[in-house]
Amino acid sequence: MKSEFDFIETIRRRYSLSKIGDDSAVLPKNSKADLVMTTDLLIEDIDFRLDWTTPEFLGHKALAVSLSDVAAMGAKPVWAMLSIGIPKAIWKTDFVEKFYDGYFRLAQKFNVEIVGGDISETPDKIVVDSIVAGEAKRNKAVLRSSAKDGDLIFVTGSLGGAAGGLRLLEQNFRYDLSEEIWRKNLMLKQLQPIPQSYNGQFLGEQNLATSIIDLSDGLSSDLAHLCRASKVGAKIFADKIPINKNLCGLTKSFDEKLNFALNGGEDFELLFTINPKKKIRFENELKNHNFSHIGETTANAEIIELILDGRSSVLEPKGFRHF
Ligand code: ADP
Ligand code: MG
Repeated sequence: MKSEFDFIETIRRRYSLSKIGDDSAVLPKNSKADLVMTTDLLIEDIDFRLDWTTPEFLGHKALAVSLSDVAAMGAKPVWAMLSIGIPKAIWKTDFVEKFYDGYFRLAQKFNVEIVGGDISETPDKIVVDSIVAGEAKRNKAVLRSSAKDGDLIFVTGSLGGAAGGLRLLEQNFRYDLSEEIWRKNLMLKQLQPIPQSYNGQFLGEQNLATSIIDLSDGLSSDLAHLCRASKVGAKIFADKIPINKNLCGLTKSFDEKLNFALNGGEDFELLFTINPKKKIRFENELKNHNFSHIGETTANAEIIELILDGRSSVLEPKGFRHF
């Protein structure tokens, strides 16, 4: 069966669609600015389950995933559209109002204006399509395809938490105020991810990153996307990966925690590269923003090496994919 990535690459080539392939499309706006634009689909029982989440969390996440793709361009989010398909039985409840509360609260936090959408009825399951548009200075949007070999690889925040939250939900834990704090933290990371909008804008405005991608599928897969687009390889160090500390509640095994961090999806942190010359100049900023230096890009195109206990092995992409 063809993979979703092969399909996108095929239509990109067949119809010469030059703007497809990054986290958001970059479109010319005027002599000073470019528009960036992204869309994300959330389907009930594929991307979320109603018995695992709340309408407010779901509304939040619908916007967060698109804000993350705008952040991954080093851009500022400005406008949003939201289309929903809802079965009649759900429409009759207060689900949609609560969903919009969650969506709107996050939009307000980042000053994003809701400028439209669409509503339709579905036979059975909820469908959400979230669109966000934003702005970057002209030709300054940060692509995933512009890393150079020898760049330093960084990530924001910590990794593996969302996958840990998913594991708990699969084990029938639910987000509940009386739950232990580490469980709540992991489930919140999965159900109510915080988009890295300020860090994305910082990396773009300071001209700091040579490339950015957001971590939606998982580090091993998203680093592979970045390397393929940039025609570089990468070497990353297991002991430098910032593993989400709450995972200690779930397992004591370092290998298992590392597996969550390498292959777990939906952390919505940013993975980015910088020119090594900038490391010294931005030493304090890198530290203050809680960015972790996890490795380097290499000339060994598309090969990703993981260094663990001094030994090197090839890291295969094992993150999330639909097809
Ligand atoms: P992300 O995980 O960052 O949201 P995706 O993996 O969904 O990105 O998509 C990768 C690229 O392919 C993006 O540029 C996206 O716009 C494009 N893309 C995805 N699905 C389609 C589609 N059905 N038609 C055209 N372009 C698509
Ligand atoms: Mg993305």
